[in-house]
Amino acid sequence: MERVQADAVLVGAGMMGATLATLLQQLEPGLTVLIVERLGRVAAESSAALNNAGTGHGANCELNYTPVDGHGRLSLHKALAINGAYEQSLQFWAALVEQGALSPGTFLHQVPHYSLVWGEEDVAALAQRRQRMAALPQFAGMAFSRDHGALRDWLPLVMEGRPAGEIMAATRYGRGTDVDFGALTESMLNWLQRQPGVELRLNHALRHLHRRSDGLWRLDVDHGRKRVRVDSPFVFLGAGGGTLLLLQRAGLPEARGYGGFPVSGQWLICQTAPLVGRHWGKVYGKAPVGAPPMSMPHLDSRWISGQRGLLFGPYAGFSSKFLKHGSLLDLPASMRPHNLLSMVGVALRERHLVGYLLQQLRQGPKERLASLHRFLPQARPEDWRLAVAGQRVQIIRQEAGRGAQLKLGTEVVAAADGSLAALLGASPGASTAVTIMVDLLRRCFPQRFQGGHWPQRLAQLLPYDPTTANATSAAALGRCRQRCDAVLGLKEA
Ligand SMILES: Cc1cc2nc3c(=O)[nH]c(=O)nc-3n(C[C@H](O)[C@H](O)[C@H](O)COP(=O)(O)OP(=O)(O)OC[C@H]3O[C@@H](n4cnc5c(N)ncnc54)[C@H](O)[C@@H]3O)c2cc1C
Repeated sequence: MERVQADAVLVGAGMMGATLATLLQQLEPGLTVLIVERLGRVAAESSAALNNAGTGHGANCELNYTPVDGHGRLSLHKALAINGAYEQSLQFWAALVEQGALSPGTFLHQVPHYSLVWGEEDVAALAQRRQRMAALPQFAGMAFSRDHGALRDWLPLVMEGRPAGEIMAATRYGRGTDVDFGALTESMLNWLQRQPGVELRLNHALRHLHRRSDGLWRLDVDHGRKRVRVDSPFVFLGAGGGTLLLLQRAGLPEARGYGGFPVSGQWLICQTAPLVGRHWGKVYGKAPVGAPPMSMPHLDSRWISGQRGLLFGPYAGFSSKFLKHGSLLDLPASMRPHNLLSMVGVALRERHLVGYLLQQLRQGPKERLASLHRFLPQARPEDWRLAVAGQRVQIIRQEAGRGAQLKLGTEVVAAADGSLAALLGASPGASTAVTIMVDLLRRCFPQRFQGGHWPQRLAQLLPYDPTTANATSAAALGRCRQRCDAVLGLKEA
């Protein structure tokens, strides 16, 4: 059996593992970092371009990031947090471009972000939302229109074949992005492998892990029929949907009570050149009543492996797998005495979600085309093909005073001493990877942030900190954007 030691072991070569490995390399170039990946390729699960929607989530168009409370008050809290997190990602990618690690044209494209709604009530709400948002420096420049002429200029394909009197409106934000997270992950990992101390091993699947009596983690990793034994003081479980099962095997008390609810998805994809060329934007609608926010329908311009295309969806579904390349036994294997009650509780309480998924599962080509026609009245089935998206595993957990909850965000579960951390959940996801991983580092390596050089190095990489009060000033944000735009080839639009 091969024995390996590393300062940090990262399980999973997706966007999260690649981001954490890159941050560690940037903060402490002397560390030995081992990344183990069960598949023969990197970024082949949720981070693969076609497995996610590739939206650079800046909260420019996603209506679920600006919820309205019971008194009709619009909350911008979530939108600002996500916008700030995405600004952190852009800064980090810009720093890597400056070092020659990334080439922006391979993964990042500027494309306007639109919100699109129908009916007087939603049109009025969108106008109000735009008024509040455009007054903030983060969203300045956001435009609103309900005039069919203006909408035709913005979205010619969407407006083609619509009755003149149809009540609808859109907001447009020009500095939106499409991100090929698969290409980005691959570029980061290719560059990392050329740095001393970093090793990536494909076809290496973590099977078991346990804490040794001296505090180190011991990982048993399968490589075909061979077994590799890895010892390390720090482990990150970034196995996407597979993380929950690995976390349960680690036996952390902090992980008790967590369960997972898998949601699968499908897209319609169009590569018919004249159509692709006539649509330019990511257009987000409203989630149907009873549907989870991640099922908001959207029509996107996409760049996948350098090729332009259109994507519409998602159509939600259910599979008991936790990974696209996973096993149907994943869900039953995750059921433990400590999470069973929460899982049953959520299944009973979230009946509308279960009903929605069942309704989506029953959809055939006719129903899928009807949803597409809402966005593109003249779409023809022969221009579109169906593709399977990545698996999401939503978090289920007990919350004090609230009982079992289905959580739609991401959550880092960490050992009390910071020696192991795991990322659960899938939303808003890859766009916010840098913020999530910086927070994880603060939790797991507090001593390096007190007196060490990590804070200074981080401030060089991410000079604009959206969480500090004065950073929200238009001037600080303006400086940050000026630098990122120049390096990444974006522009205020
Ligand atoms: C349908 C859909 C749409 C989305 N849209 C967006 C979007 O528009 N914008 C956005 O920002 N985010 C989006 N996301 C979320 C985003 O894709 C994820 O947050 C992100 O890709 C997660 O990265 P990851 O590294 O955690 O997981 P993954 O990319 O899934 O990587 C996990 C890796 O771990 C490996 N692994 C699993 N088990 C083991 C094991 N035992 N040993 C070793 N390796 C293992 C897997 O093979 C995989 O390579 C979307 C997700 C989905 C599913």
